[in-house]
Amino acid sequence: MDRRNFFQGSALMSTGALLGCATPGIAQQKVKTPFDVPQVYIPVVGSDEMFPVRRIYCIGRNYAAHAREMGSDPTREPPFFFQKPTDAIQYVATGTVANHPYPPLTKNYHYEAELVAALGKGGRNIPVEKALELVWGYTLGLDMTRRDLQRAMGDEKKPWEIGKSFDMSAPIGALHKLASIGHFTQGSIWLKVNGQVKQNSDLKNMIWSVAEQISKLSEAFELFPGDIIYSGTPENVGPVVRGDTIEMHIDRLPNLSVKIV
Ligand code: MN
Repeated sequence: MDRRNFFQGSALMSTGALLGCATPGIAQQKVKTPFDVPQVYIPVVGSDEMFPVRRIYCIGRNYAAHAREMGSDPTREPPFFFQKPTDAIQYVATGTVANHPYPPLTKNYHYEAELVAALGKGGRNIPVEKALELVWGYTLGLDMTRRDLQRAMGDEKKPWEIGKSFDMSAPIGALHKLASIGHFTQGSIWLKVNGQVKQNSDLKNMIWSVAEQISKLSEAFELFPGDIIYSGTPENVGPVVRGDTIEMHIDRLPNLSVKIV
């Protein structure tokens, strides 16, 4: 089986098996294409299956102290979301330190340590009490941010996209199936740069829980299997430069490390 057939075969299998219905704009049959566009996958711990990524949603300002450091009042703001392209994923294997390229156009490149929920089911208008039924598994990831570009665009009331949704902006660890890891409502989340603690909080400080995030997100978008959600970062985001090593931790998950090159 060549590369093209492998990717197309996988896409067909998951579309048929998991969605069970047509997705507008997605070809349901094998079609002839002038070139290959690979599907993005995340490895699954303890399995030979790969998790196919459909969309990457990110929640903004989900820890009160981080909302304050970004200049907003967390008590009055409903959650808001943005997306990254799926090929922004940089998979980082456990126990390795992946080289992460310092991106172009920025002079203020920031880390944001985040819990990531991966969905195995979809739907619209999901009630909070049913929302965790959509979760397939969890991992941890970095919502890397060109902060200077994000702020400049915000100041001009233009889309943030160039600050958030660029190549390699979503380093991520292997996925842990829900059955083996359980849900995350509390537990330490921290991030170190060159061994020095920069971010240090607890998942219980999230303003909107994973269940609430899914519920709110499903009011705005129909969710599907393969969607993943970066659940926001605690306070004390900050810059890295070439040569720095980032290590992040969430209790019960193996640490994730990248070196900025
Ligand atoms: Mn973030």
